[in-house]
Amino acid sequence: MAPLKTRTSTYSSRVTIYENSSPATSSEPAASTSTTPAAASPRRTTRSSAAATFAESQTLGLSLPVAGEDFEEDVKPAKKARSPRKPKPHVERLAVPHPAPKRWEETYEVIRKQRERIIAPVDTMGCEQGGKEAKREDEEVKPQRIETEKDRRLSVIVSLMLSSQTKDPVTHQATMNLRNQLPGGLTLEGLETATVDEIDRAICKVGFHNTKAKNLKLLATRLRDLHDGDVPDDLPSLLAINGVGPKMAYLYLQAIGKNAGIGVDTHVHRITNRLRWHKKETTTPEQTRLNLESWLPRHLWPTVNKMLVGFGQEVCKPVAPRCDLCDVATAKLCPSRRVVVASPAKKRVKMEVKEEQTDGLPQVELALEQAEEAVEQVVVAVKQEESGFLRVEERVVKTEDAT
Ligand code: SF4
Repeated sequence: MAPLKTRTSTYSSRVTIYENSSPATSSEPAASTSTTPAAASPRRTTRSSAAATFAESQTLGLSLPVAGEDFEEDVKPAKKARSPRKPKPHVERLAVPHPAPKRWEETYEVIRKQRERIIAPVDTMGCEQGGKEAKREDEEVKPQRIETEKDRRLSVIVSLMLSSQTKDPVTHQATMNLRNQLPGGLTLEGLETATVDEIDRAICKVGFHNTKAKNLKLLATRLRDLHDGDVPDDLPSLLAINGVGPKMAYLYLQAIGKNAGIGVDTHVHRITNRLRWHKKETTTPEQTRLNLESWLPRHLWPTVNKMLVGFGQEVCKPVAPRCDLCDVATAKLCPSRRVVVASPAKKRVKMEVKEEQTDGLPQVELALEQAEEAVEQVVVAVKQEESGFLRVEERVVKTEDAT
């Protein structure tokens, strides 16, 4: 079929009009058209040009060739396979340093002093423990397989990899499970021998355990193939491990004594924003890290994470921060402090802490003040479970019953 004319449509696409096989009804003179041989100018048809062609043909009373004959079919380009997501380039330092916030030294000192009086989950079950059981002084120490420094480094990175989106006690228990349940314990050989399912069963309480189980298997292979069976001690190699981000990489380096940067997790990110230590509120932990590293003296980098994490777990909590217990609020150093209205039914005031040994376990009594005159006592019983965890049970008793 010979093309009749070529013109530009309203869509700026070139449109070729073909002669109709039936008697033409067009009133346009054929002589006034310039023809473009279809075969001489093969081209891909777009949806817009095809639509325009169809509209034109309707106006001119022409019929279009059947697709697959002379007219090139509207072929969609095959979808390109998605390339794996490229990791964002890691920025180690800010080009323009962030200025130090006003009175940060005073605030830091107040938090440091308050933290000395608080034992938070991060102190007993933090990742640098590598899932080791805390033992009481009087507990008989069972002979254990001697842990090498390599094993210790592995248990720290494993614990860090399990820690994302997971609370410290759950991470700690999962790491202990790996120690106790993997055929060779929490060692490279143990991870290599275990199946993904076995690893998954041991860590099933942590967030995203399916992915983390696979990542631990990949970790074992990577360490064996690329790092002589040991955890690398440089930032790029750590960041290349599946499931290891900047927070974990910096915390790992701090745990092995390399002061390369600050491990910024959700607590550090939240608290520094509540303290307004950033000129503009930061939206990611990485922004927070870059700001902090540009003004916080380097000798404080190894300790700032643990200090603020414990403070965030016990005082400056994500929801309902305990500004009423916070020394930073008392010193009027926090712009985010708020008045905490105590529940009218129960106003807890720590009156005294009495420790007694009962069956070798501590019995702690806290006196609580309620309203004006009524006084309640909470008896806190600490029991050790088979897993090694200490279970704390609170029982509220009226003063008249407490005797
Ligand atoms: S005053 Fe409140 S918001 Fe500010 S640091 Fe203390 S607990 Fe957090």
